[in-house]
Amino acid sequence: MDERYAQRIAERRCEIVDRMTEALAASGRTLDQARLVAVSKTVGVPEVLTALDAGYRTFGENRPQELGRKLGALSFIEGLPDARFEMIGNLQTNKINAVLGRVDLIHSIGSRHLAEAVSSRAARRIDAGELAAPQPVLIEVNVSGEETKGGFSPEEIRRALPELQDLCGIRIEGLMTMAPRGNKDAARACFAGLRELRDELAKASGLPLAELSCGMSEDFEVALMEGSTCVRLGRVVFDPAFAVL
Ligand SMILES: *Cc1c(COP(=O)(O)O)cnc(C)c1O
Repeated sequence: MDERYAQRIAERRCEIVDRMTEALAASGRTLDQARLVAVSKTVGVPEVLTALDAGYRTFGENRPQELGRKLGALSFIEGLPDARFEMIGNLQTNKINAVLGRVDLIHSIGSRHLAEAVSSRAARRIDAGELAAPQPVLIEVNVSGEETKGGFSPEEIRRALPELQDLCGIRIEGLMTMAPRGNKDAARACFAGLRELRDELAKASGLPLAELSCGMSEDFEVALMEGSTCVRLGRVVFDPAFAVL
């Protein structure tokens, strides 16, 4: 990667960290209370290497095949810092085996069917000694109610969680959502709704559900002010031309 790009990415990272720090302070928190996943789905291995150099350690992918390609390429390079990957996109059941054990977290469990499929495959791998522990996952909730969005409706997850929490191949660590685009007030209401739903579900289930994965390039500060513990940032990380508002 050219040096100028590398410099822009490193400077941009400092700006993002500053903005995260300020937004977290607004909710009485500090930088260690939220994670940043650099969403590398639209960039190649050279950009991931640049980002590693700039200090990013966790990357988000939404296609199992691309995840495999990047992991493969990185495995051939010696002396790299540990790069971790998480699955953020819609996952098809026939692709589950391609991500199990290769990602630290699956953010996008958006249906009962998918939860059961991931759990049964993970349980089989655990029994075979191929996987050390249940797969950590988040439940994707369609808080805004937009028809184009995937995930459980709040009502569906209220009903389904007692069964999902008994699935032995997955460990549910929290909730994830995508906010409506281009409307900060609607986004804020969506993030607040996710937090309130988490509080309610945590109480009802006894699960901590500590992770709230929400906030993207356009709205991560609002998300952090509303309690996000994990922002998923693509364009603002990798595209020097993305306007920092
Ligand atoms: C692409 C994507 C992101 C990152 O979006 P940006 O707007 O580029 O920050 C975050 N989460 C999911 C689920 C995505 O698919």
